[in-house]
Amino acid sequence: MCVNPGVRLRRYPAPGPLTSDDFEIVDEPQPALEVGQIRVESIYASVDAGQRAMVDRDSSYVVKMKLGDAVRCAGVVGRVIESRDQEFAAGDYALIFSSGVWQKYIVPVRDRSPILKVDPTRQPLHVYIGLLGMVGFTAYVGIFEIGKPKFGETVVVSAAAGAVGGLAGQFAKIGGARVIGIAGGNEKCDFVTHELGFDACIDYKAEDFAAQLSAACADGIDVYFDNVGGDILDAVWPRLNVFGRVVICGQISQYTGAAPRGPNLFATTLKRLTVRGFLANDHYEVLPEFQKHVGLWFHEGRLKHFASIEIGLENAYRAINNLVSGGNRGKQMIQVTPER
Ligand code: NDP
Repeated sequence: MCVNPGVRLRRYPAPGPLTSDDFEIVDEPQPALEVGQIRVESIYASVDAGQRAMVDRDSSYVVKMKLGDAVRCAGVVGRVIESRDQEFAAGDYALIFSSGVWQKYIVPVRDRSPILKVDPTRQPLHVYIGLLGMVGFTAYVGIFEIGKPKFGETVVVSAAAGAVGGLAGQFAKIGGARVIGIAGGNEKCDFVTHELGFDACIDYKAEDFAAQLSAACADGIDVYFDNVGGDILDAVWPRLNVFGRVVICGQISQYTGAAPRGPNLFATTLKRLTVRGFLANDHYEVLPEFQKHVGLWFHEGRLKHFASIEIGLENAYRAINNLVSGGNRGKQMIQVTPER
């Protein structure tokens, strides 16, 4: 039995859903701590849409994986079991903000990704992987730093029932915008409007999706927060207003090997559009502001957090498949160890 099980890429997956054979669980070494390091027992680990793209043989994703590499993820929260860092003591809880790995015991690397002390008596631990973690930060940066919706503007968000999208829409609502979600199926759309408080949500699988989008955005679209790309971006594109902003957060429709599609870019000139891609981890200068505002809004009950939790490292690949098939609501994660 592994003392320190970790998930590694065993083979490059075929297009489509991942299988257990694509990964292997191996016993990872546990190095002695150097001064300034901590050892964290992972409790919740993030599962990210981008992981599906990063495991492909010809991945063009920002993080690419080679065979045998440990699988990286955008955040782990867990218990500090050993510390040579003055800021942490054994028994504290730590959030490895964006550079986690799917592994039971982790000695986080001190890189650009912050390692933050968190308090499970203030918020449930899994909230630090979602709303108060990298996905919340991504949504915050995308809305407030890039899209910057003004009061009364129309904001459209795709993958609206997912982790980043659900939060992006809630932030845009707090900013005073009218927010339209796009999600797969009536049930998810009901969730987006009734639970997350969007003004409307449109099922992209409906035959009359484009007509419904036009009706919901009668005054056009000022900000599009794009998590999906492909056909949905094509449908949004002609409905953008002059001086519209397109926030390219992700393109999940293209993470499983589908041929890239795209809109006519000349519209960026004709309509003086701003189309801007971003990576949240280039924006750590707004992390303190994010923590202050989002912690307060959550405390005031103005934000809702939902999590889909798969148990066990051995089921982690299923959790990635959930993101592609739409099986999740809110932040997908795996529970590596019980909370106690
Ligand atoms: P989500 O929790 O949003 O899950 C993904 C959702 O995407 C699914 O629930 C599914 O919902 C929807 N989806 C999947 N395939 C398609 C498709 N072909 N067409 C339409 N919808 C689809 O995942 P994340 O929050 O982890 O990621 C959301 C996006 O944010 C991704 O594009 C990701 O790459 C990006 N991201 C970007 C970061 C950055 O720094 N720029 C950082 C983190 C994430 P449904 O049932 O509605 O289809």
